[in-house]
Amino acid sequence: MTAPIDIVDVTKRYGDAMALAGVTLGIEAGEYCVLVGPSGCGKTTLLDILGGFSDPTGGAVRIDGREMVGVPAARRPTTTVFQDYALFPHMSLLDNVAFGLRMRGLGRSRRLARAEEMLELVGLAGAGAKRPTALSGGQRQRVALARALAVEPDVLLLDEPLGALDLNLRRAMQDELKAIQRRVGATFVHVTHDQEEAMAIADRIVVMNAGRIEDQGPPERVYRRPASRFAAAFLGEMNFVPGVVQGGRAMTVFGALGPATQLPEGARVTLCARPEHLRPGAGVSLGVVRVIEAVFQGMHRKVTVLPEAAPDTPLRARLPVGLAADVGDLITLALDAEHLTLLEDT
Ligand code: ATP
Repeated sequence: MTAPIDIVDVTKRYGDAMALAGVTLGIEAGEYCVLVGPSGCGKTTLLDILGGFSDPTGGAVRIDGREMVGVPAARRPTTTVFQDYALFPHMSLLDNVAFGLRMRGLGRSRRLARAEEMLELVGLAGAGAKRPTALSGGQRQRVALARALAVEPDVLLLDEPLGALDLNLRRAMQDELKAIQRRVGATFVHVTHDQEEAMAIADRIVVMNAGRIEDQGPPERVYRRPASRFAAAFLGEMNFVPGVVQGGRAMTVFGALGPATQLPEGARVTLCARPEHLRPGAGVSLGVVRVIEAVFQGMHRKVTVLPEAAPDTPLRARLPVGLAADVGDLITLALDAEHLTLLEDT
């Protein structure tokens, strides 16, 4: 019903291009893992290698401890939900969902009972007689999910499963996908380029870039303490303040900042601070800053400021709407030092 996945130093080469440049990743049984990254970073390639639709150039892929390289897709404990859903238009929903069970030799009544159960799981109870053409995009997505889950895979692979849906439906389906995964308990690996979607659903988020993993872990950890500048910027707005290590701290234009570091004297570093960690009041003072841009966003005001101490370093902050911060205003801001991440420049 569920299985762990071990991906060890997997590479994939297309001619001279390295689609995967050495990916190592462990996914626990029953985890919801989301691969996220910009177009072309290798997410789909990695998913295809897990599903058996593509062979790696090098490395190992184990599911439940069993080597998968060379095992055909149909013999793997995986099923894949493709972005276009690939439903059979001339078949009823029930027959669509029961299709994989027929291939596995289940009798008709058991197949149909199971298919009903799966339609119920995805919120389409009683709709079994309909054809896919009579459904909305969101409903088709559910049918594709029901069909994939009907065969009780240990691992479900989803390639941009919500990509065809409008934003509201997409956000609603995210919650449902996660709830369904909790109920069935299988390991899910989901590909998306939408970082909000990734953070909302994942137990483990994997940020990819140019065929490599930049960072991976629980979404909150990766958002708060990113391991690389790319991962930091990909998951949301981030301020980057350059510094140099002096006496075990990062020296910046704002003085010594951030956590203590073991990096050698003189090492170049970058301090990362999310806009929500710049605020009026307590913290490491950034001194007087001039507001050069202010956007009202309901819950807060998003501002861009230029510090007097560093007029070449615009900073983004998210401020309470009650605070006067219009374009041209001079205000004082501080950094919540506890939330600063120190990265070594590469
Ligand atoms: P997207 O979000 O656009 O689908 P992705 O992160 O899924 O992107 P991949 O489809 O895995 O990226 O592609 C990774 C890299 O490998 C890209 O540079 C792509 O051009 C290349 N690539 C993928 N498939 C092939 C192929 N069959 N032949 C040659 N190059 C390929």
